[in-house]
Amino acid sequence: MVLTSNYDVIILGAGASVLLCAFTAALRGRRVLVLEKANKVGKKILMSGGGKCNFTNHFVEADNYISANPHFCKAALKRYSQWDFIAMVESHGIEIEERKHSQQFCKNSAKDILTLLLDECALAGAEIKTHCEINNVDAVDIKGYSDKYQYEDSRSRYQIEITHDHTTQKLTCHSLVIATGALSIPSLGGSGVGYDIAKQFSLTLTERRAGLVPLMFSDNLKAMCERLSGLAIEVELTCRVQTFTENLLFTHRGISGPVVLQISNYWHPGDTVSVNLLPNFNVSEWLINSKHKNGKLLLRTLFNKKMAKALVIELQTLWWPELADIPLAQFSDKQLINIANNITNWQLKPSATEGYRTAEVTLGGVDTNGISSKTMEAKQQPGLYFIGEVLDVTGHLGGYNFQWAWSSGYSAGLVV
Ligand SMILES: Cc1cc2nc3c(=O)[nH]c(=O)nc-3n(C[C@H](O)[C@H](O)[C@H](O)COP(=O)(O)OP(=O)(O)OC[C@H]3O[C@@H](n4cnc5c(N)ncnc54)[C@H](O)[C@@H]3O)c2cc1C
Repeated sequence: MVLTSNYDVIILGAGASVLLCAFTAALRGRRVLVLEKANKVGKKILMSGGGKCNFTNHFVEADNYISANPHFCKAALKRYSQWDFIAMVESHGIEIEERKHSQQFCKNSAKDILTLLLDECALAGAEIKTHCEINNVDAVDIKGYSDKYQYEDSRSRYQIEITHDHTTQKLTCHSLVIATGALSIPSLGGSGVGYDIAKQFSLTLTERRAGLVPLMFSDNLKAMCERLSGLAIEVELTCRVQTFTENLLFTHRGISGPVVLQISNYWHPGDTVSVNLLPNFNVSEWLINSKHKNGKLLLRTLFNKKMAKALVIELQTLWWPELADIPLAQFSDKQLINIANNITNWQLKPSATEGYRTAEVTLGGVDTNGISSKTMEAKQQPGLYFIGEVLDVTGHLGGYNFQWAWSSGYSAGLVV
């Protein structure tokens, strides 16, 4: 038996962006149904920020986002800002912890944010169904209606066939919102279904690749990273024209940590990244002065004052192996300047990223040229909306991706 039900709004995917969209629309009196394929909603929220959810940032600007259209995110971020979300968090009595770079985390648990969103959905009357398999999505044939009529008419414009509890159901709705996220971390719900639906309705996609992701090496640097794995150091990392200063973590496969995740958004295969191991410090001047003041010291002993011993040993093997046991006084200034240049501009060539398996986000997605920045509706497909990470809008690390999810979800929730 095929059951049929009609809704004003059906939203596919129950992640971060959808929950704000669902209760905003339901508060406007819309009959809202959310369909989620997984057994639980908001899995990425629960896993985020090491279980504490970095839900936004005090400083949110368009510059914190990467998109083929850098202006696209502005309207939504203005309509629903970080202050709006923080006010809601505070109104639910959730304690906030501010960390460096103005990142806002839950003091207790990421679960608090999910509970907040689910409570708001329940209060507003939005219905959420998990374990839903979406079989297909179709536009209802509404030929013959004028465009104006299509917008004003509350009749169904989309039909979705799902399997739920071993039963096939046909659902219809006036507005269909795609909030199925992106490709990163399949075990947390990452999927490409949003892109398939976009293609089905002739929307274009921009190139997609893993973002906020560790970088790997295949050459001798891999073995070095393995030996140093677990060591974290503050560095300045540059790729193309972008520079970030934060912690770098050596791993068994390569490099990770906040600074690497940030720069990975700008890294393309074949690019080198430049590492400054002693940012904001004049290394060549320090080395030459030290040569005159403490000429008996070994270079590694001097560097041990500034860097972890294990790292200094690796750098010595790379850059001054034949001078390892020679006192500083016997180094020429030119040799010291060369070593200083290596320290401040260490050129690394990653072989690849760790890919979608560990990436926090997917760069690229549904081309925003086909989407209204005010409402998130597809310009050529009335009633079809895209929100969250499925769109070609990717934030830096620091709470920016959730802020985009809240802002884009709210913008659609106001009009669906
Ligand atoms: C480990 C990790 C940590 C992160 N930490 C942070 C952080 O601290 N701060 C921050 O700002 N960002 C963080 N992010 C990024 C952030 O989680 C995402 O940008 C955000 O969740 C995107 O929201 P979304 O609603 O677009 O997609 P999602 O939250 O991914 O939700 C998509 C939903 O759609 C469902 N779905 C997929 N396919 C289907 C289908 N066919 N049918 C029905 N449902 C489907 C999925 O199961 C999922 O529930 C993190 C990401 C990861 C992976």
